[in-house]
Amino acid sequence: MMQGLIEQFGAVLGKQYVLTDDADKVPYLTDWRKRYTGKALAVLLPKTTDEVANIVKLCAAHHVAIVPQGGHTGFCGGATPDNSGNQVILNLKRMNQIRAIDSANQTITLEAGCILQSVQEKAAAQDFLFPLSLGAEGSCMIGGNLATNAGGTNVLRYGNTRDLCLGLEVVTAQGEIWNGIKGLRKDNTGYDLRDLFIGSEGTLGIITAAVMKLYPLPVSQWTTLVATDNIASTIALLTLFQKRATSLLTGFEMMTQESLALNEKHFPHMANPLKGNPPFTVLIELSDHESEEHVRKLLETILEEAFSANLISDAVIASNLSQANTFWHMREHITLAQAEEGANLKHDITIPLSSLESFIQDTDSLMRQKYPGVRIINFGHLGDGNLHYNIAPPLGLDPKAFNLSHEKAIHELVYAQVERCQGSISAEHGVGQLKLADLRAHKGAVAHDLMKALKRALDPQNILNPHKVVSI
Ligand SMILES: Cc1cc2nc3c(=O)[nH]c(=O)nc-3n(C[C@H](O)[C@H](O)[C@H](O)COP(=O)(O)OP(=O)(O)OC[C@H]3O[C@@H](n4cnc5c(N)ncnc54)[C@H](O)[C@@H]3O)c2cc1C
Repeated sequence: MMQGLIEQFGAVLGKQYVLTDDADKVPYLTDWRKRYTGKALAVLLPKTTDEVANIVKLCAAHHVAIVPQGGHTGFCGGATPDNSGNQVILNLKRMNQIRAIDSANQTITLEAGCILQSVQEKAAAQDFLFPLSLGAEGSCMIGGNLATNAGGTNVLRYGNTRDLCLGLEVVTAQGEIWNGIKGLRKDNTGYDLRDLFIGSEGTLGIITAAVMKLYPLPVSQWTTLVATDNIASTIALLTLFQKRATSLLTGFEMMTQESLALNEKHFPHMANPLKGNPPFTVLIELSDHESEEHVRKLLETILEEAFSANLISDAVIASNLSQANTFWHMREHITLAQAEEGANLKHDITIPLSSLESFIQDTDSLMRQKYPGVRIINFGHLGDGNLHYNIAPPLGLDPKAFNLSHEKAIHELVYAQVERCQGSISAEHGVGQLKLADLRAHKGAVAHDLMKALKRALDPQNILNPHKVVSI
């Protein structure tokens, strides 16, 4: 029966876009962190929305589950199939056309397989800013960004992917095409279907295209690295910048000493330029539409005030674009350094800024008491209260063995502190299969049951990315 289905896939897509040989499938089967590897009946590479719809109809008729996939850079195993070998991967990379850039409406309409960096470049070529920016931008795709409601470094000013999206085109679990591809900033016509699909991680529908917001390109950006002694000063510094720079503040990233030491170990050229690698290094970016002098002066004035108030002990302002890029690369390399170091336990969490100090103090102290020598790689988009609170084993211990013994208890320790502070166990990476088991306790029974009811209503056959986010 399966051979017949493979042939029908070939009839829809063209045989060369149905990958069934083991060697051809390998690149699609393991996630970026190499945490999950699955098997697949086939990898399907559609080019058009109609092709996606026809594939879904075929899968629905044969009860075959579909795992939608973009750049496969997600951190929660959402785009990796299970081990049954009965699921198909639907990778959207061939759907990579920009359909339109509407200058008056300040929108871009594009297909789900467009790579994020190429969208930024296309927008810039037309004098627009597409503000979504994250470490994986060279390979993640807009469909994946929408499906995970990705965050990144510009959320502070422009919001997350949900905030940037005005309309969607989606193929439903029945293979119907929902055309919600309107570039409207106001549309109060009942339930917001767009918001339902954003962040649903491929479990409710397959996003094939979107209308996204564009912004005017800033005329000037200034980037600085500053040293702080503790988290309280770092938060006070954020408040100061928010007061003085208001909407010109476009980046506020925190990196701890331990995070940057790991960076230096694996990427010596990414060493912290601040003397002695201080306890906390903060990367701050201001963007301005007025003039270079205006924003530079503003930055210097705020830094002087921060020095006078003893909030910072050192600062270096990037003297040119290339140095500013190096600062950002330093921030982005922490994730890569962790990957080089070996398996680690990630916690992508949000905490209200008012509780952040108590969260870090208590969690650090409990962690070090229970697991002496453990390395806490804590960094993140502090402006949004988003920490990447990651745990690496004590030096000299085998990371895999350490994780096997302590993973559950370490997650429980961190998540208990997150709940105490009324935070979230997933700030921007989603749920996927990684946090499936933790979701019910975190959301509460009512919210979790509502999510299951939605899943059952939209995908009664449970063929869209089953056992990701919620199991029904
Ligand atoms: C170095 C690095 C840095 C990162 N930094 C950040 C960061 O700062 N902020 C952040 O939020 N994330 C970050 N990530 C995580 C990741 O890049 C994002 O989650 C990204 O949005 C995933 O996009 P993707 O195309 O790779 O999606 P995939 O990994 O392919 O898929 C992710 C999920 O979306 C579903 N999906 C994919 N495409 C579709 C579609 N068209 N329709 C329906 N469902 C779909 C998949 O089934 C899966 O559940 C980082 C990752 C790396 C490797």
